[in-house]
Amino acid sequence: MILPGEWLGVLGGGQLGRMFCMAAQSLGYRVCVLDPGNGSPAGAVADRQIRADYADPAALSELARLCKAVTTEFENVPAQSLERLARDCSVSPGADAAAIAQDRRREKRFAQDCGLSVAPYQVIAEAADLTRVDASLLPGVLKSARLGYDGKGQVRIDQADALQSAWDSLGRAPCVLEKWCAIECEVSVIVSRGRDGRSTTFPVAENEHRGGILATTIVPARIDAALEQRARAAATTIAERLDYVGVLCVEFFVLPGGELLINEMAPRPHNSGHYTIDACVTSQFDQQARVLAELPLGDTRQLAPAVMLNLLGDLWFGQGQPRPPRLDAVAAIGGACLHLYGKDEARPGRKMGHITVLGTSLPDALARAREVAAALGLEPIRG
Ligand code: ADP
Ligand code: MG
Repeated sequence: MILPGEWLGVLGGGQLGRMFCMAAQSLGYRVCVLDPGNGSPAGAVADRQIRADYADPAALSELARLCKAVTTEFENVPAQSLERLARDCSVSPGADAAAIAQDRRREKRFAQDCGLSVAPYQVIAEAADLTRVDASLLPGVLKSARLGYDGKGQVRIDQADALQSAWDSLGRAPCVLEKWCAIECEVSVIVSRGRDGRSTTFPVAENEHRGGILATTIVPARIDAALEQRARAAATTIAERLDYVGVLCVEFFVLPGGELLINEMAPRPHNSGHYTIDACVTSQFDQQARVLAELPLGDTRQLAPAVMLNLLGDLWFGQGQPRPPRLDAVAAIGGACLHLYGKDEARPGRKMGHITVLGTSLPDALARAREVAAALGLEPIRG
């Protein structure tokens, strides 16, 4: 194992990097962040920040010299940077696994190769592909193969004649056209896998997205035990077949009747796993630090039912005017654990923080979460 006191590194300075820093520091490690920004959420808590581009050769050399092991907190880290770092220190996830998760075409093919189902889709790589679209894929959604997140890089398509302008609006980049699915619910599984090949999964999370952005996570998911097991098994299969080392999130669509489709995967901790910080013995960020440090994986048991609410920058505005949300009212609600990411500027759609609400039962957690949502003026939680 890597001994406490040594340096661990993280590429990216966002909130996921921040929460990783805090977890690694509580295990006694020092953390260095590589991020080009000033005042980044992770940079503010890291023991050190190297302020440079993710592909900067000198910065990567410095990070590799300082750190025994390096990970990433964002999906689109250049695979070459991971390869460069791997020459001098241990890197997880590996460049190959990251490259698959970075491209929806490769991701879907990989899931299918694992014997798992995905939504019906077709690759749109060139203009001629638009004329060969199978009518059964409509209504659908056109997604850029790379660099999309939080619903960005996606256009809903109702009719074939909308395809050309949608593809133009995505810069004619390689895309997948996916059938729009009648989803019963969305769930996700965080799986962690160590260098020794052992893996663990956290309890399945039930997710509600609004406008393509995660709004609410409810755990345990309100699905039957067999489906819960299938989701955990699918995530484990993916981690094993990728020979993955680190923390990975697999997002699923559940169709009526219980059919499970792989939506996408993220080669890092995930917003839908934030509940683990307050609700589980070990958090997804502790797990990421343990994998890096080559410690045994932690216990993923959930200690209390939880509802996580995302706090987007929209909450910092009222009638278009800046005004802080009523966090004092939230702080007074029993079971509400508040996390803010220290971002200096609120913008609509920007993730500013989250609240995990713990209860003695799931109905109790939901009731308390509804109180929190009402105090903040959030849209009511569904279901
Ligand atoms: P992102 O990378 O932005 O998270 P996703 O592909 O996960 O992109 O899409 C974001 C959300 O949009 C999903 O969680 C889901 O709510 C909705 N969505 C995406 N694709 C489909 C689809 N084919 N059918 C129904 N809903 C979809
Ligand atoms: Mg997603």
